[in-house]
Amino acid sequence: MRLVLLGPPGAGKGTQAQLLSENIGVPHISTGDLFRTHIAQNTPLGKAASRFLDAGELVPSTLTIDMVRERLTVPDTQNGFLLDGFPRSIAQAEALAHTLGDRGIKLNAVLSFVIDEDVVVERMLARGRADDSEMIIRNRLKVYAEETAPLLDYYADQIIAIDAAGEVDEVNRLTQMKLHNNVGTR
Ligand code: ADP
Repeated sequence: MRLVLLGPPGAGKGTQAQLLSENIGVPHISTGDLFRTHIAQNTPLGKAASRFLDAGELVPSTLTIDMVRERLTVPDTQNGFLLDGFPRSIAQAEALAHTLGDRGIKLNAVLSFVIDEDVVVERMLARGRADDSEMIIRNRLKVYAEETAPLLDYYADQIIAIDAAGEVDEVNRLTQMKLHNNVGTR
């Protein structure tokens, strides 16, 4: 099963991706986590990416796309993957389509986590990550609206919308149910 998870920052995508990855047995690939690991290890990519994460800006697409392409060559993605935080722009979505197309594969679905902006700001302030100050949160929401939200149209015919306002377990139950009804167990 090859899935993309979409949703504003703070929608709980990462948490849901983790659970779903266990449910369906495919790796959870979070570009945010990959960048944070590079930054923690002070790699050249980490050095190049850190100021963008600090500002709540998108890391330039070339860096991001190369990192994802490489991750998708790891054999654990053979039976599928869950992409969390990628693509985040039309250019990234086109690059992904290209990469998958070269291998003769396609996405099975795009899960869209739907939630109110007020709720996401509250959640992010509560979790207290380094880039979770109010000003940077606002910038991430702005970047989401401008760069990422257009993907809802781009992927229109593959989208499965999920109400992400409930408790973690409830959202996971909803996600599994909708996935089962729309895609089955590929
Ligand atoms: P959230 O979903 O809460 O915004 P993430 O962990 O997904 O958090 O992303 C954190 C930061 O990592 C983003 O604000 C951005 O700087 C960078 N980032 C993650 N994914 C991408 C991507 N696909 N393209 C560019 N930058 C990215």
